[in-house]
Amino acid sequence: MNIRALRFDLLKTAAELSRLGLNRGTAGNVSVRCDDGFLITPSGVLTQNLTPAQMVEMTMAGEAHGGLKPSSEWRMHRDVYAARPDVGAVVHTHAPFCTAIACHRRGIPAFHYMIAVAGGRDIRCADYATFGTQALSDAALAALEGRTACLLAHHGMLATAPSLGAALKLTQEVEELAEQFWRVLQVGAPIILPDAEMDVVLEKFKTYGQPRKA
Ligand code: 13P
Ligand code: ZN
Repeated sequence: MNIRALRFDLLKTAAELSRLGLNRGTAGNVSVRCDDGFLITPSGVLTQNLTPAQMVEMTMAGEAHGGLKPSSEWRMHRDVYAARPDVGAVVHTHAPFCTAIACHRRGIPAFHYMIAVAGGRDIRCADYATFGTQALSDAALAALEGRTACLLAHHGMLATAPSLGAALKLTQEVEELAEQFWRVLQVGAPIILPDAEMDVVLEKFKTYGQPRKA
């Protein structure tokens, strides 16, 4: 995809996160891998006030090109691209149910088999660190080990995927799991699926849905 199309898709994804209520105000940020670096949403601007041309182009060294300051979380996005060659897009939100659970410094255990959607037996919660810091990026990367998504303590969540569309879908799925977990907690401590069963589910997920076209 060319850079013009990526700028357009990046802003469309950021706007869709707002429309779905997964981000409100200027909370959250989105990026997409592009050439040797990535494109990221600018810091502190409402999506409705942005144009595709205002998406900020960044190098892996952290240099920004463009008129607007990049998202304060650019380190977290950059570090995911550096560590994960398979990741093409990163979504960060303050989605309400993920954030509520993360404010208890809790991850989401295998109370439901769909936890496997994030690649493992649970969805971890990264240790707290101040927004926009290298410490937060380091904590997020540790929580993402072997996973495609994590919660961020006292903050929100992070989702990674090969494309913007897949990262948006994963964000919605993780927020749905967080909402279900929150409801389940109202009745008491849930029963957690055994590791062996989650391993069966993780294996089945490899062939779930329609076969990939060659
Ligand atoms: P930015 O507006 O700088 O992207 O910050 C929003 C945010 O969610 C910080 O964690
Ligand atoms: Zn944030």
